[in-house]
Amino acid sequence: MHGYKMVDDDLIVSGVQLEDKQCPNGCEDDDKLVLNAKDIICNLPGEFSVVSCQSCGLLRTNPRPTPETIGFYYPDDYGPYQGTKVSQKELAGLKRVSWLRKFIRKLFKFNTNCLPKVNPGRMLEIGCASGAFMHKMANEGWDVEGIEFSEAAAESARQLGYNVFAGAVECAPEPLVKYDLIVGWMVIEHLHDPIKALKKMRSWVKPGGQLVISVPNAGSIEFRVFKRNWYALQVPNHLYHFDTETLTEVLRKSGWRTQKIYHQRVLGNLVASLGYVCNEKFGESFFSNWLMRFPLASGRLVYLMYPLAFIMSLFGQTGRMTIWAVGADLDEK
Ligand SMILES: [Zn+2]
Repeated sequence: MHGYKMVDDDLIVSGVQLEDKQCPNGCEDDDKLVLNAKDIICNLPGEFSVVSCQSCGLLRTNPRPTPETIGFYYPDDYGPYQGTKVSQKELAGLKRVSWLRKFIRKLFKFNTNCLPKVNPGRMLEIGCASGAFMHKMANEGWDVEGIEFSEAAAESARQLGYNVFAGAVECAPEPLVKYDLIVGWMVIEHLHDPIKALKKMRSWVKPGGQLVISVPNAGSIEFRVFKRNWYALQVPNHLYHFDTETLTEVLRKSGWRTQKIYHQRVLGNLVASLGYVCNEKFGESFFSNWLMRFPLASGRLVYLMYPLAFIMSLFGQTGRMTIWAVGADLDEK
């Protein structure tokens, strides 16, 4: 056994099966227990351990639900699926961007979906959900395709006219034509075999092709303060909990060279984590519920929090990061 197996009668009832996996970097079997946590997003049964590989420092959820049974933890109302649908206004091209909005976008750089300045070409989005980001990129001249684990979300994206493979990235077929850009917003931490998936994506880009991904940052102060109540921990959906170093190493192992790391200037994780702490200490209330829903319903409040987020990002301490990587030359490996 590599981990700290949790026996839970509810898990047996729900049909979830757990598997015990070694560090994907191929390290010696030497893990340390970091914490035990529950699914605080959907309140589904089970308690899970986050362990740290003593050799490379990578944190992972172990034991974890098998690829065949993890769907139990992605119900249709799974929060992160919400808000990725393209509105009727956007579809009809009626949503104009005012000069004020353009100015505000220039002034506030949240670093959430920041992309290198390259000419439109072929783009693949992994974890494209209902296709909102693909739709935005298609409007900017990109030829887009997607991969999405949820069949229902993939179908919504297909209805917009995009080619979407429904299933795990690890199982997706080879593309007919290679890509200039692959993006994945908050996806890699959900994958059972991120190295296999990232190697596959490496083989799918043209020479000089780029990868842009975002992940939670388990090296941030947010994780150290909130621990099991950290909103971005999200066990057992998140199977890996990267920091700048462990992510750079996983990318290097998969044939990618990290170019830039942007610490996002958003504090949604932090506010929601406060909500979970309130909930635990004082019980459920309107206030704690509002805090917990903040990442999905913050609206314009993100601007109010920008100054603090900006300062924290300077020190690499916000809970999310965006990484640019390029396919490494074979002699760099
Ligand atoms: Zn390791």
